[in-house]
Amino acid sequence: MTCLERLLPEIQVTLPDGTRRSFSAGTTPLQVGESISPRLAAACFAAKVDGRMVDVYVPLAGDAKVELVTDRSPEAIDIYRHSCAHLMANAVKELFPEAKIAIGPTIEDGFYYDFDRAVPFAAEELETIEKRMAEIIARDTPIRREEMPWEEAKALFDGEHEPYKSELAFERGQHEPVSIYRQGAFNDFCRGPHLPSTGKIKAGTFKLLSVAGAYWKGDEHNKMLQRIYATAFLSKKDLEEHLRRLEEAKLRDHRKLGRELKLFHIDEDVGPGLILWTPAGSIVRQELQTFISDELRKQGYFQVFTPHIGKLTLYKTSGHFPYYKDSQFPAIVAPESLAEALASDCSCAELMHRVEGVSARLANSLNDRAGREVIGPDQVLPDEKLLDGFLLKPMNCPHHIKVFDSQPHSYRDLPVRLAEFGTVYRWEQSGELNGMTRVRGFTQDDAHLFCTEDQVGAEVRGCLSLVKTIFGTLGLADYRVRVGLRDPDSKKYTGTADNWDKAEDACRDAARTLGVPFTEEPGEAAFYGPKIDFIIKDVIGREWQLGTVQVDYNLPIRFDLTYTGADNAPHRPVMIHRAPFGSMERFVGILIEHFKGAFPLWLAPEQIRLLPIADRHVAYCQTVARDLSDAGLRVTVDARTEKTGYKIREAQLQKVPYMLVVGDREQEGSCVSMRTRTGGDKGVLPLETFKMLALERAGARSLELD
Ligand SMILES: [Zn+2]
Ligand SMILES: [Zn+2]
Repeated sequence: MTCLERLLPEIQVTLPDGTRRSFSAGTTPLQVGESISPRLAAACFAAKVDGRMVDVYVPLAGDAKVELVTDRSPEAIDIYRHSCAHLMANAVKELFPEAKIAIGPTIEDGFYYDFDRAVPFAAEELETIEKRMAEIIARDTPIRREEMPWEEAKALFDGEHEPYKSELAFERGQHEPVSIYRQGAFNDFCRGPHLPSTGKIKAGTFKLLSVAGAYWKGDEHNKMLQRIYATAFLSKKDLEEHLRRLEEAKLRDHRKLGRELKLFHIDEDVGPGLILWTPAGSIVRQELQTFISDELRKQGYFQVFTPHIGKLTLYKTSGHFPYYKDSQFPAIVAPESLAEALASDCSCAELMHRVEGVSARLANSLNDRAGREVIGPDQVLPDEKLLDGFLLKPMNCPHHIKVFDSQPHSYRDLPVRLAEFGTVYRWEQSGELNGMTRVRGFTQDDAHLFCTEDQVGAEVRGCLSLVKTIFGTLGLADYRVRVGLRDPDSKKYTGTADNWDKAEDACRDAARTLGVPFTEEPGEAAFYGPKIDFIIKDVIGREWQLGTVQVDYNLPIRFDLTYTGADNAPHRPVMIHRAPFGSMERFVGILIEHFKGAFPLWLAPEQIRLLPIADRHVAYCQTVARDLSDAGLRVTVDARTEKTGYKIREAQLQKVPYMLVVGDREQEGSCVSMRTRTGGDKGVLPLETFKMLALERAGARSLELD
């Protein structure tokens, strides 16, 4: 040891495996990595020092626990993508110096960056940007963090005429110390961490995907910026796999297939987010509803029908109005109330206030029953001030509660299970709307169960077994459930701790009986009860959240529901809300993508298409069609004078399960020549044999055709 080394103070570094090593003060995490192995150092993206993420070249301040974040760490991909975002902005600034940089975060599967530029980026420009990114990688420019007072960061971005960065430096600087990252002449306002140099990004691992408009800070009153979406993966292979999945997702897009297969239509005049079910799509929906209804009946449910609107008082009692008014269509003011308001020259704001008000009587009874203030005094209006009105129903529950409450119940009647394919309306922002999966009007596969405390477990299990049956029939084998539990530290929950424990155990046990993976998520329950959510994975690995099963202690209190117990005293029932498939719109949208439009026979709008080879076979085909149709199958005849090969291809494109080709031989022998949309020519078989096969497959709701 030289005397100089002895002069430097030493620090103790604890590695994840618990070993401790001494280093001289000022050692960086990268040097710690080098002391272990050069390979490890080369794979180093960042480091966790005492649990905090830092850049690899930042010297350690003293004794510390150091964990190196390499390309194998779960945090690696985010650092990589964020560094790619800076790289992209750097390339844009070199190519288009007039573009102003805004923000560039990572997102699922990639990242984006927003730029203020007069015109959107063209497709060729994205290619040019990608090429420039590769050049900056080749330069292997160091990426360096610099901390500074916010005033200095703001001055730096002001000097660079970067108003968005300057604004961010000012805003963030009020709360925390700020940092910038420099790579060559490019500076970004950023928390980090980042890769230590541009050369750490591998060419061919990122791809610029698309351009979209986006408001600064997501606020429509702000300027519209140009957002470039991109994706990046740690290896070229992973990127290619992802791009292949994106391609496949495009082919499966339910909006595209919905148009091609004429399954549904959205018309601007009817309104965005409002689905028109065309005849073909309606068949799919009807078949699904019949199937679900059959299963519900087997489980002791009763079907009900309720109107699409209800009085405001109903939703004031349930709490759906006015608390959730931002996600609902505005109230419909009753004609006489509107006339009264007009006659009294009431302002619009006052009108709304009078519509949203609650009578003292209702407020008092709700507060009494809840044992706390659920309606504040500011919401209470004198009766003569209240205006009457209706709401397009945002939920079916209040209607079902009124059905339940229309008769007295004894404990012997419970559980009461009321099911409805109930249509509800929600106000979604227009930017959020998406085909059938995000809409403003939808029909839930809804049901409400009214039961005793002791029945909650069995009822939740019943709900889950139904889901299992239906997923199984549709071949949705890959799904998981999430059990939302209460946050043990919070006091916001309705219902006793004892009841909650029981209900949570019931949800957990029920989830276990499914035999699929499930997670427990404390704090994810609603204030009124625990819940179970279903998430399915489709054939290309995408996850879709479907519906939920939810225990509720709150609404029975709000609506003062009771049943007579064995002790002859009134008791409070527990409610279970369940809409496991979410809505028919969303579910069918997901099924279109899952099946790529090729529905199983029982759901296919057109199950069989007869293809006469020549005009002289048309009459026989029509007789066959009538026979099959009488047997309950959906069948058409393609009598056009096109080549048979052309007709077959078209039927295949339209995903018709069975094609029956008929020529002289078939006609003479009362036979058909069968083809399936996937398996090609299946040979000639007697008409009766085919009919039995098709009926058997459809009746069994089979996924197989032959
Ligand atoms: Zn950044
Ligand atoms: Zn409900």
